[in-house]
Amino acid sequence: MGKPKVLVTRPLFPAARAILEKQFDVEYWTRPERIPRAELLARVADKDALVVLLTEKVDEELLAAAPKLRVASTVSVGFDNINVPACTRCKVVATNTPGVLDDTTADLAWALLMAIARRIVEGDAWVRTGNWPGWDIDQLLGGDVYGKTLGLIGFGRIGRAMALRSRGFQMRVLYQNRTRVSPEIERELGAEFVDLDQLIRESDFISLHVPLSAETRHLLSKDAFSKMKPTAYLVNTARGPVVDEAALAEALEQKKLAGAALDVYEQEPKVHPALLSRRDVILVPHIGSATIDTRSKMAVMAANNAVALFDGRRPPNALNPEVLGS
Ligand code: NAP
Repeated sequence: MGKPKVLVTRPLFPAARAILEKQFDVEYWTRPERIPRAELLARVADKDALVVLLTEKVDEELLAAAPKLRVASTVSVGFDNINVPACTRCKVVATNTPGVLDDTTADLAWALLMAIARRIVEGDAWVRTGNWPGWDIDQLLGGDVYGKTLGLIGFGRIGRAMALRSRGFQMRVLYQNRTRVSPEIERELGAEFVDLDQLIRESDFISLHVPLSAETRHLLSKDAFSKMKPTAYLVNTARGPVVDEAALAEALEQKKLAGAALDVYEQEPKVHPALLSRRDVILVPHIGSATIDTRSKMAVMAANNAVALFDGRRPPNALNPEVLGS
């Protein structure tokens, strides 16, 4: 019997390829553009496993086109690209890559927080024009970070990694999460559980760390922005649709908040046009986990998730372990 077949929508990295190639007959999508949907649907028809990026949707349509599929592995911790209940109905194990990107993503969120408060990107652009006249008392005045209040919406792995970083800046930490964490964790991270309304009203920095779901879509919209301190900043490294981008642009224009730093967008790669020209906004291209080490670890993890079933093991990061039975 031949090896099982896997489709991988990017060549990933050598360590991940080695794991996949040992177990599978591997087909990679290698062209520079993202795999077109029709191509993806055609290529999964005879595959036993699929390794995708967050840009590919694993939905009812794809599952119907892949009758042999047993595992769908995404190289991301967020799995809003995968319809997990549909995978369960089709007896496909869905997997993601939790844990290996927490610190890297929190580092980026922290970098954005610092950069928007201290106007780093504006300053860089000014110096490069050659028109900076030299030091003056009132140039590029920003907001302080140390001693301020940080509001974390989503207090899972990455949210907590943010709380840890804030300790060096003597910040007060408020958090909102679906479930309250244990008193030990609250004490250890110096974090106070509050409702969303209080968090929005009292925070100087709001940083988003929830997954995208029906509940979190447009969690921050016109109403939320109207309650923010006009001196507060928003950082989004979670998922774009958690923020209503049009409402954010309007709120910035009306000075309801002081600025926003975004890694993710509602309709990537598009960005709401009103945000593009604003100096009180920092825009980076979804690079939360983009370090050499972390992306390589994520790819290895996704490869291990894909091969496990065919090795007679349980995929370590199954999102629907019920498919595997006990
Ligand atoms: P996690 O450990 O699962 O934490 C997410 C937290 O959000 C959980 O504690 C969860 O609460 C909470 N939550 C879920 N729905 C909520 C709601 N409606 N209201 C309040 N809290 C809610 O996930 P993570 O590893 O920290 O990652 C968080 C998200 O960051 C990912 O889903 C992904 O979308 C995004 N991300 C982005 C990048 C990037 O490149 N920009 C990189 C990594 C991750 P419970 O504890 O009750 O479940």
